[in-house]
Amino acid sequence: MLTIKNYINGELIEPIAKSYIDNYNPATGAVYSLIPDSDERDVQLAVTAATAAFPSWSITPKNERSAILIRIVQLIEKNLEKLAIAESIDNGKPVWLAKMVDIPRAASNFHFYATAILHDATETHTMENTAINYTVRQPIGVAGCISPWNLPLYLFTWKIAPAIASGNCVVAKPSEITPMTAFLLSEICIEAGLPKGVLNIVHGYGHKVGSAITAHPHIPIISFTGGTKTGAEIARVAAPMFKKLSLELGGKNPNIIFADCDFDKMLKTTINSSFSNQGEICLCGSRIFIERSIYEKFKTEFVAQTKKLKVGNPADDTNRLGAIVSKQHMEKILSYIELSKQEGGSILCGGKQALIAGEFEKGWYIEPTIIEGLAYDCRTNQEEIFGPVVTLTPFDTEEEVLKMANSTIYGLAATVWTENLTKAHRVANDLHSGIVWVNCWLLRDLRTPFGGVKSSGVGREGGFEALHFFTEPKNVCIKL
Ligand code: NDP
Repeated sequence: MLTIKNYINGELIEPIAKSYIDNYNPATGAVYSLIPDSDERDVQLAVTAATAAFPSWSITPKNERSAILIRIVQLIEKNLEKLAIAESIDNGKPVWLAKMVDIPRAASNFHFYATAILHDATETHTMENTAINYTVRQPIGVAGCISPWNLPLYLFTWKIAPAIASGNCVVAKPSEITPMTAFLLSEICIEAGLPKGVLNIVHGYGHKVGSAITAHPHIPIISFTGGTKTGAEIARVAAPMFKKLSLELGGKNPNIIFADCDFDKMLKTTINSSFSNQGEICLCGSRIFIERSIYEKFKTEFVAQTKKLKVGNPADDTNRLGAIVSKQHMEKILSYIELSKQEGGSILCGGKQALIAGEFEKGWYIEPTIIEGLAYDCRTNQEEIFGPVVTLTPFDTEEEVLKMANSTIYGLAATVWTENLTKAHRVANDLHSGIVWVNCWLLRDLRTPFGGVKSSGVGREGGFEALHFFTEPKNVCIKL
């Protein structure tokens, strides 16, 4: 059985306690590898290594840093197949999806920041005949990067790449539920010649490793993606130490469908925005609002298309949905489906665990589920479920749908379907959301700011926002 190791000071090492956590394959429910059960002593080793590496890495010329990151890109691309299969076994997602989205995006994250640092610029502010101010942006030191299980390598690299590209050293923790591709990345970093201590990966539980990173006095900056409750705990611990924080948290995204949309395009994309990655993407549109005049048509066709989606073995390319990441998460999703029934919802399709025969019979699968008949403010429509479960709600006016769409504590992403440009602008303007997609979903330009409002987060990732987050601006004022 493969034993994952921590990556500290350029080496793959055992956790100090020498204890391990079982790593499950959600497709079969079987343990297939062991994860270091690290603790604050391993985090300390990583902080010591990162602190020692920082003086040299932070002044390494940008083109040299860039060249090393480009070598990482090339090695991710060379190992695409291996990484995609590993991601699928760890997370339950279809291999085809990992090959098409997760792994190429991890390579793009490194490529984007490897090249972005070569084009970054800072400002000057002149005071006529008096002084000139210029801004320098300096790396901060040791950055803590903590990521979740839904898009493991994709989100892990979305933090690590800008952090190290801009000259910081990193202590990172992937989710203990999906650590495998982070482990493979550490092998890639060694092969790419990343200097020792620049990136350190400590595996283990959030309450041990994650909280040790959050509380460490020599980690002044933390980038976190995960649940809103965990984000609140990190903010509580970090605030008295005045740490710089970027928190990318949960969502309960509305998908607003107006009668004047391009119906076929909308339907095809809405299947994806509802059920891609088993609905375990923070950007999935879990609340679908449909203008009443097309409600019945939408419902009939959406249910018919959803019933055709095959669920099962993630390695079989004909399956659209793979396994749910863990037994615990599957049970949470099923409990929300039960709650929806108590709240008066009708299940139009799905609604239960999908039982897959043979070697997958002990795996964790859920049928894509569509629910209607719920009040917009019931718990099912307000709380994040994070699974292949969507609700349908009709609406009559723009004002009404905006009220319902904006009613949750979240504000991460929203989707709007209409062929009326003026309406699209108006609705996009009035949605309380960090991202609004019009007539598309998950179309990403890495230069754009990414993040949420309200309880969906604090700060923005992406583009120069991330390079700015991972650097501290300093104003130098020179009297003329
Ligand atoms: P969690 O918040 O449970 O965990 C996220 C990470 O934080 C994991 O690595 C976890 O470790 C770690 N962690 C847990 N407790 C602590 C702690 N006290 N201190 C520091 N770190 C800790 O989220 P999930 O992994 O369950 O991910 C799903 C959530 O992520 C959903 O809410 C989803 O919406 C959100 N998400 C948000 C995105 C965004 O961009 N806004 C993108 C993707 C997901 P461990 O796994 O060991 O518990």
